[in-house]
Amino acid sequence: MHHRTAMRVVCLTLAATGLAACTVSRSNESSPAQDEAPPAAEAPSGDGAGDPYYPEDGNPGYDVTAYHVQISYDPGKKTLQGDTLVTAKASAALPKFNLDLLGLDVSSVSVGGAEAKFTREGDHELVITPAKPVAKGDSFETRVKYDGTPDGAQQGSLGENGWQPSASGGAFVAGEPHSATYWFPANDTPKDKATFKLDARVPNGWSVISNGVESPATPGNDGWTTYHWNEPTRIATYLTTVGIDKWTFERSTLDSGTPVVSAYAPGAEDKMSVESRLPEILTFLESKFGPYPQSAAGGIYINENIGFSLETQGRPIYAAWAEEAVVVHENAHQWYGNSVSVSEWKDICLNECFASYAQWLWDEAKYGVNLDEQYRTEVASGHELFAEKLYDMGAGNEFGAVYEKGPLALHALRREIGDDAFNRVLKEWPAKHRDGNASWPDFEKFVSETAGKDLTAFFEAWFRTDTVPGDEFLYPGPLRR
Ligand SMILES: [Zn+2]
Repeated sequence: MHHRTAMRVVCLTLAATGLAACTVSRSNESSPAQDEAPPAAEAPSGDGAGDPYYPEDGNPGYDVTAYHVQISYDPGKKTLQGDTLVTAKASAALPKFNLDLLGLDVSSVSVGGAEAKFTREGDHELVITPAKPVAKGDSFETRVKYDGTPDGAQQGSLGENGWQPSASGGAFVAGEPHSATYWFPANDTPKDKATFKLDARVPNGWSVISNGVESPATPGNDGWTTYHWNEPTRIATYLTTVGIDKWTFERSTLDSGTPVVSAYAPGAEDKMSVESRLPEILTFLESKFGPYPQSAAGGIYINENIGFSLETQGRPIYAAWAEEAVVVHENAHQWYGNSVSVSEWKDICLNECFASYAQWLWDEAKYGVNLDEQYRTEVASGHELFAEKLYDMGAGNEFGAVYEKGPLALHALRREIGDDAFNRVLKEWPAKHRDGNASWPDFEKFVSETAGKDLTAFFEAWFRTDTVPGDEFLYPGPLRR
């Protein structure tokens, strides 16, 4: 995610705009870590996968392996009909279980082909009681049919999260930490990544962009056409998207064979010149982070001045103000954030610190920017920059310091351990955790091992405190004057 004002010189706009009091936390109650497998005989408690910041997000008791989402959307009426198949493996016996779905009217639920009972609870819980309990270890399919008008997007820390109208009368989905459950039932936690397939039917004249690889659209004889997208690489739910608009598509192939599809909403066609740098940007990022880890590439250029651009998997969504640096940032996330996802939201520096530092690396390589000078200038610009933690910053504060203090911290780390070790870390970390989840403490351990050096005090000073690091950490190695 990249905030409109998170440009490197505008260090403190985020704090100044009072973003702290946002509504992203759905509950302040913390719940015990329910992942720590409950006894098989006992039903896991229904709501919440255990993230301390968003305790109601996701659900315990199963692991989704695949989503197959089918929707019809009528832009004229703004109504959606959905039919979603969720394939999962039970990690506990399930006399009942939950999916997350916000709003929309559910007309039927079946589990393993048999009709199931269901109720709606709280903000977004769909509580399902199968005709007979799912046994621990079983794979099972849950089919949910639903319809209605998707709920309006909610205000998150950087703007609207969820299903959002577009100026041309279409719609798109973007939001972090949640957005998927505005349009399909999901286990809405980044810990439960799954493959994702979408068939989206729209009236002729409209078209659909989403994640992954496309198959040819299939026109019906009823004036509607179905678009087909398939993401075979496991994806966190907040990185799924759909965009319904009168898109202009550009299609090409990278040298590696990876298909590229980019889409431009009416009025955003001038962004083709920005997107034309994508192959060069991905080649550069591969030189730093290793082979591109996604099945497809591209971009979704909406003609909306939303507060952020977002690294939706393989195909980021760009706000109208996005330019080259944002394309670098969102594509860096394809390694840092998407292929390697956070274990908990407190680990967000693994996403944003790296995507922000990728912009520094790009400027260094392409524009000859002296990063040591840039670092010194920014450190000198004000100590407010250090007033937030980069790790475990608290719910609602995830998208603050990571953009400005984050790249400074990584530059200091680079100078602390030297380029050889730092470059190895940048490449070996995404390889080690490809297609998985990892935590910030895992990363600290990995860097110390790679560098052959105890970095506990360095990490404490830069990432785990909200004060200015001591000079030995602020000006390590060649940064020392
Ligand atoms: Zn980002």
